[in-house]
Amino acid sequence: MSGAARRPPPELARILFGGDRVLLVSHVPPDGDGLGAGLALVRALRKRGKEAVFAAGGEVQRCLRFLARPGEMDTSPSGPPGPFDVAVSLDSASQERLGELGSLCRRSRHFLNIDHHAGNRRFADLNWVDGASPAVGEMVVRLLEDTGIPLTRETAVPLYVALVTDTGRFSYSNTGPAAHRTAAALLATGFDPSEITDRLYRSIPEPFLRLTGLAIGALRRDAGGLVAHVTLTPEMLRESGADPLDAGDVVTIPVSLEGVEVGVLFRPAPDGGGTKVSLRSRRWFSVSDLAARWGGGGHERAAGATLPHPRDRARATVLRALREALEAGEGEPS
Ligand code: 5GP
Ligand code: MN
Repeated sequence: MSGAARRPPPELARILFGGDRVLLVSHVPPDGDGLGAGLALVRALRKRGKEAVFAAGGEVQRCLRFLARPGEMDTSPSGPPGPFDVAVSLDSASQERLGELGSLCRRSRHFLNIDHHAGNRRFADLNWVDGASPAVGEMVVRLLEDTGIPLTRETAVPLYVALVTDTGRFSYSNTGPAAHRTAAALLATGFDPSEITDRLYRSIPEPFLRLTGLAIGALRRDAGGLVAHVTLTPEMLRESGADPLDAGDVVTIPVSLEGVEVGVLFRPAPDGGGTKVSLRSRRWFSVSDLAARWGGGGHERAAGATLPHPRDRARATVLRALREALEAGEGEPS
């Protein structure tokens, strides 16, 4: 990653803080990184007298809802009424992942794109992409610093959520000095991190725990044990009563199994037909390359795609590709 991407382009802050009506968006549904980065910017902008709102394009995961104060987040599929002076896409590698919000962004005077996916399609008017950053929340910390805007507890809490969730609580390989330095700067504003991790990780809804039980029962291995996978059926989702928005978190089960390099979750695609595939790897296998074959993407260790096939066919396709790639030793350290 070039050094240039480390600092935001100089025009970015000028455009962002120069608009009067600003729209912040992320992929739909947003995760902790997109939502946290967006709400921090909403607050920084409002403090400067701007009108700013985060559009989620639908409901967000329950464990993240504590972050937004009344009026800060719009959850309608097509977003709040425009037009906006500035729209900012956060944590989305392509405009397609913004769903209906993409056209709202296109209609605003300026369209900015802040992201840490190396394969970002640079779809906006001004794109700041830093594939080396652990989270868009970390990029927003740098943007605020660069602009001379001090961190406050109000901006630090959502940014901390962004960092904690995208680094897997400071455990994935994107956890380097930048993640910890940023965490230190955020914590210095004086909030209690245990309150946040209680909200994120110790507030598991019982139906989700039941789904986890069903998922463990459905755990399978492949590729000589290097792959573990789980397939969630509509029946399992119904029987457990789990919120479909939480279902993607089940992917931690297959990737946590001893000896596994790649963990895979297959589930009904949230927006109708097809099968959503979530991929996680541990040490050396690049799942973003694999996801890209089916029009998806992500990071080297966390990626996803939606296949237009029913689950049996989607699973056969993905497992075959994984077996071939793993047998070829793609990326394996010698
Ligand atoms: P998840 O498996 O949690 O849905 O996503 C993991 C990572 O892959 C995230 O970085 C997410 O942005 C990316 N990702 C998931 N699904 C897709 C997809 O359909 N297209 C693209 N481009 N990226 C995806
Ligand atoms: Mn992210």
